[in-house]
Amino acid sequence: MIDLKKIAAEADEKLKEKFNEFEKISEINTKRVLDAFREERVSDSHFLSSSGYGYSDSGRDTLERVFARVFGCESAVVRHNIVSGTHALAIGLFGLLRPGDILLSVSGKPYDTLDEVIGISGKRGDGSLADFGIEYRQIELKDGRLDFESIYSVLSDKRIKTVFVQRSRGYSDRRTLSHEEIGELVKLVKSKSNAFVMVDNCYGEFVGEKEPTHYGADLVVGSLIKNPGGGMAESGGYFAGSARAVNLASYRMTSVGIGSEAGASLGQTKSLFKGLFYAPHTTCQALKTAAFAAYVFEKCNFSASPLWSDERYDIIQTIQTGNEKNLIAFCRGLQSASPIDSFAVPEPWDMPGYSDKVIMAAGAFTQGASIELSADGPLREPYTVFFQGGLTYESGKIGILSAAEEVLNQNRKA
Ligand SMILES: *Cc1c(COP(=O)(O)O)cnc(C)c1O
Repeated sequence: MIDLKKIAAEADEKLKEKFNEFEKISEINTKRVLDAFREERVSDSHFLSSSGYGYSDSGRDTLERVFARVFGCESAVVRHNIVSGTHALAIGLFGLLRPGDILLSVSGKPYDTLDEVIGISGKRGDGSLADFGIEYRQIELKDGRLDFESIYSVLSDKRIKTVFVQRSRGYSDRRTLSHEEIGELVKLVKSKSNAFVMVDNCYGEFVGEKEPTHYGADLVVGSLIKNPGGGMAESGGYFAGSARAVNLASYRMTSVGIGSEAGASLGQTKSLFKGLFYAPHTTCQALKTAAFAAYVFEKCNFSASPLWSDERYDIIQTIQTGNEKNLIAFCRGLQSASPIDSFAVPEPWDMPGYSDKVIMAAGAFTQGASIELSADGPLREPYTVFFQGGLTYESGKIGILSAAEEVLNQNRKA
């Protein structure tokens, strides 16, 4: 019989070296964040709220300069009223592309929610990129890696205005790209074309020592209720990169001419600063939780990706639960150990836009925040559960053990 307590105790021993690696990265990133706060002389007055147009909001402007320093780039826009990662990505795409241009995705099909933005799916006439005469092309990953040869061979087409790459695996079974690989891509693109390199950076921030912007990516985009909000941001998104690309995106966000010079902060600036301050540490907690989960489930004879001993480039962990009952048990176990809505019992449901039923577990302070421990999985073979987050390793560990216990109990009954 599987002894969960024994496995958990063993895990802490075996994972020591891994945890050390995560903590070293967190220390390096924390140093960079702290340095940026000091260089920009962040002070109490920057937490003041602005209303109306939000002109001359020095807190908001300082936050964006701090962010740009942390990301090693010229400019950044960090706003509580960007509603999601998808919204930030749509702002970026519409900001950079013009009729007649080509959008080239080099990591296969982008995240599902971008299908309608690009016009891969959805109704004609709703205002997708396709409606505006922007052509879409895609190059698949090759053995999980960027296919540099194929990318190089198409770059001579001068209509390719934006090369798009997704760092994280998202909810697919591909590999996550390292910041070094994205760095190589930037070099390749810049050597042969004037195209912008745009990166979907969701779930990748602060996992490594560097961000794609450190390699010269033009526009790097993400959500503040994932890694860079540190579990503190109540809402929001960001984009960061070269002055030109960020400016173009900011014109799309508000209006041409106004860009990032307006936008009331409505009292949100402090939690965004605080979130950025926490982000390297919080990301580290999520990484530890994911590695712990991989270890425990591998020892319980489930297949995990990444493996506990693998390098990690994002905070996502998957487990193949094998059958519907296990998947449901996992989500219920995780939910019951959440700080919020621990009493709720997750049920599979028909989520709009998905062909199979989906089950989710989320017991978060911030609705939908996936830097907080959360899970979901479609009810289809091989019943893979995708999960991520964990504001503290301690609570993450308790959540994972609760999920494992439910799964094991369910198997004993079966
Ligand atoms: C989360 C995520 C997004 C954006 O998702 P939202 O739910 O709109 O915030 C985009 N791409 C990837 C890879 C993601 O993980």
